[in-house]
Parts: sequence; structure tokens; C-alpha cells
Amino acid sequence: MASNKNKMSLRDDLTCAICYDLFKEPVMLGCMHHFCKRCITTYWRSIRGPVSCPQCRQEFPSKQFQTNYLVAGLVEKVRATSSDRYVKNLEKQIKDTLKLQRSQRDEFIGMIRKDNEQLDLIRQCVAELQERVHGDFQALHHFLEVEEAAVLEELNREQEAMVEEMGRHLEGLQEAVREAEQNLQALQQAIGSTDHNVLVELPELNSRASLQAIKGPDIDVSAFRSKYMAPLQYTMWRKMFKFLRPGPAPLTFDDDTAHPSLLLSQDKTQVVEYEGILPYKLNPKRFIQCINVLAAQGFQSGRHYWEVAVGNKPKWDLGVALEAVDRQVRVKLCPENGYWTLRLRNGNEYSAGTQPWTPLRIGSSPQRIGIFLDCEERQVSFYNADSMTLLYSFSSGPRGKAFPFFSTCLSDRGQKPLPIRILHSPTVAL
Ligand SMILES: [Zn+2]
Ligand SMILES: [Zn+2]
Repeated sequence: MASNKNKMSLRDDLTCAICYDLFKEPVMLGCMHHFCKRCITTYWRSIRGPVSCPQCRQEFPSKQFQTNYLVAGLVEKVRATSSDRYVKNLEKQIKDTLKLQRSQRDEFIGMIRKDNEQLDLIRQCVAELQERVHGDFQALHHFLEVEEAAVLEELNREQEAMVEEMGRHLEGLQEAVREAEQNLQALQQAIGSTDHNVLVELPELNSRASLQAIKGPDIDVSAFRSKYMAPLQYTMWRKMFKFLRPGPAPLTFDDDTAHPSLLLSQDKTQVVEYEGILPYKLNPKRFIQCINVLAAQGFQSGRHYWEVAVGNKPKWDLGVALEAVDRQVRVKLCPENGYWTLRLRNGNEYSAGTQPWTPLRIGSSPQRIGIFLDCEERQVSFYNADSMTLLYSFSSGPRGKAFPFFSTCLSDRGQKPLPIRILHSPTVAL
């Protein structure tokens, strides 16, 4: 508004007092008043008498004025900014800017909403995780408390048994001392009697207690001590290991699914590529095109974890496959085709089996890979089982029954095929 007022007073200043319009070819008189060149010329022509200013009446010796280019320029500016086209253009510009600002504001509000939703999601996720972490630790604490109570109770029970046995022995000894004292007394008396030359018989003595009869209990404190001085933490850890949920699943390879060029160990926990084709039975479960094998154990509920020793094998595929995958065809290993896998090529090129591959940066080459399948959460995660660091996680895992999946891959020419092994317990301390 203020600038509009300024504009109006500027327009007033640039208005000719004769024609009441913006100056046309403004000229300045000696009194500093301005008029249109034509207006002042016409005015002077129309009057009789001395030449004067129509505004302040100052008289001049002759009809003289000066062209004022500065005022002329200002007039042109005011005229231009007052034109309909200019105003319409300006209005359009303002409307456009308004629209832009409004849409920007809406966009920012949308972003704030998204941020808030994300924050809610983070809080919710953390709360759920806290509950899960708490539950898992609670289970371990409970296990250890129960075990500790059991060990201490056993220790107490053994102590009581030993104390009871020692108590019985002590009682026996005290009884024996009493009997011996009675015997002593009787004998003393007998000696006294013989001193007086009285014929007496040998007194009747207590003979229940003898040194052999009250032999001490066979308690070996040293052996007892050794029993409880065992590597208790390790013993408990091994016990706890069996109790872990999920602990390493004791998987075995399923012979019926193995490609004919895969050789399984007797206990079905090791597989290695074989140069030729082994005799096999035709079976729809068997992989014919690719050098794959599944575990005999499939899962469709619960949480499961297993570990696979890959050693320094330079290439492999590991993961999970849907029961429904077609074993007779060669397909890309990706979730769209029913496979959730981690793969290694050329000894150090790790990638997740997405479409396209997701290359992974993994510092050191894990010798063991841990695979975690959460059927309810539909999550498949891969770990470096040497350090239990997460390598990759699929969040839209299998729907329906799935089997642990393994591929030795075809060895490169001239390279000795190396085996893949399923581990049933960790071979190194974490
Ligand atoms: Zn004029
Ligand atoms: Zn004047």
C-alpha cells in the first residue's frame, strides 16, 4: 500500500497543472515549475501582457523554458507501470508466484507429514525391538538363574549328605569314647579289688565299638572340589547352546534334491562338486539344470537359523528357496523366482540375489555364513557367522514353505572343487 501511495504522489508530481495529465515533453520554467511543452506554449500564446508562470504567477522577460529529460524519463516510467497490460502482467505474475508458493507450502507440509510418519515408524520399530531384545535376554537370564540355582542346590545337597555322614561317624566315635571310659573305669575298679587280695573276675567289658567297626566315611574332599572346579561357564554355555531359540538348526542335505554332479557325505552335512554324473533316480524334486541342493528340513513357521562353512571356496550361492520352485529349469536366483540368496563370485565379489544383483561391500571374507529365516516376519538375513555382523537382509521373504538352499556352483577350469558344510554347532568362540 505504501508503495502505491508513493506511486500516486509521484504521479501527482508528474501531472501538468494545465491539462491535468502526465507531462508530455515536460519543460521547466525559471520558477522551476513544469508543464507540457505544448500546454505552456499554447497558454503563453493565449495570454496578453507579460510572460508568467500559470502556477505561481512569476513573470519572465521572455518565453523561455528548458527541456527536463530527467522528468521526461520519470513520466515514461510512470506511464509504463500504469498501463493495463503492465498491470495485467503484474497481476498474472503475482498469481503465478502465489500458486507456486502455495504448492511449495503444501509440498513442505506433505514432507513434514511423511517425516512424522517415519518418526512414528522408527519409534514403533524400536519399541518392538526393545521388547524382543528384552525377551531374548530375559530367556537367557532365566536359563542361567535356573541353572545357577540347580548347581547351588546340588552343592548344598552334597554338603548336607557329607555333613550327615560325618555326624553319624562322630556320634559313633563319641559312643565309643563313652564305652572305652566305662571299660577303663571297670578295669580300674578291678585293679583296686585285686590289690586287696580279693578274688574277683575280669569285669565284663563293652565291646560293640571297635576301631574297625567305626571306620571313617569315605569322603574325598579333593574329588568333590574338582567336581565343582570344572570349567563351569563353558559347561553352562554348552548347555545354553542347546537351549537357544533359534539355535543352529541341525540340517542335512536332501539326497533327492541334489543335482547328479553333487557328492554328499555319508552324514549328509557336506557337499562337493563331482566331475562326472553320479547314478541318480529321476525325481521331480531333483535339480537337473543347476548344481543345487536343498536341505531335507523345510520351514513354514517360526524362526530358524543355520550356519554353513564355506571356507575359502571362491564361489557359491546360499539362502532359501520356495518348495514350489521348478527344479527342471535354469532361472535367475531372485525373490521373483522363489529364491532369496547371497552369492559369491571370484573369491571376493559378494552380492545379494535381487533383480538386478545388489553388490555388497564386505571387508573380510567370512569362512562361515549364518542364515536367518523368520517365517512370520517374512525376513531372510545373512550374517558373517565369524563375527555375527549382518551382510544383507531381505524384508519380503518367502510366503509358504521354504527350504534352505545351497549351490556349490561349477568350479572354474583347473580349480579343485571345495566342499560346503552345514555346521551343527559353532566351531569357534564368538
Ligand atoms: Zn499539459
Ligand atoms: Zn511557477
